[in-house]
Amino acid sequence: MTTPQLLCDSMLGELARWLRLMGFDTIFMPDAPDIDIVRRARYDGRIVLTQDRPLAAHPAVQAIIIESDALDAQLEQVRVTVGLPEGQPRCAMCNTTLESLSRSDAKGRVPPYVFRTVTTFSLCPGCHRIYWKGTHWESIEARLPGQGD
Ligand SMILES: [Zn+2]
Repeated sequence: MTTPQLLCDSMLGELARWLRLMGFDTIFMPDAPDIDIVRRARYDGRIVLTQDRPLAAHPAVQAIIIESDALDAQLEQVRVTVGLPEGQPRCAMCNTTLESLSRSDAKGRVPPYVFRTVTTFSLCPGCHRIYWKGTHWESIEARLPGQGD
């Protein structure tokens, strides 16, 4: 079974960023009218994540009503209902799949204290942001239920 593609509506931007870092193909449509969200979800075959019950009840979309306003509870709800993704981490900002970046290529592009202490870097080929373990990944793992400790 392939990992479902997701679509977060306007209230769920922070959730969208975390879902991307976890590896979900997630688009975020702030300020989009419901009809545009419905069209995009149908076109791509995405599950809509929303706190808007009329949108979730639209007969043309598969939707999950996100119950909580707390990020941890939102991530847990997605994990329980959708499962964990099989894909590689994606850029939190632009949803592009991250590529590994060699340590030598990271030199000069990350703060010196990071370069000294971190060994594994990833690059977003879409917007050229650099991610590294020790900040993002540990935070992510801390937020993935059933992992760590
Ligand atoms: Zn990016």
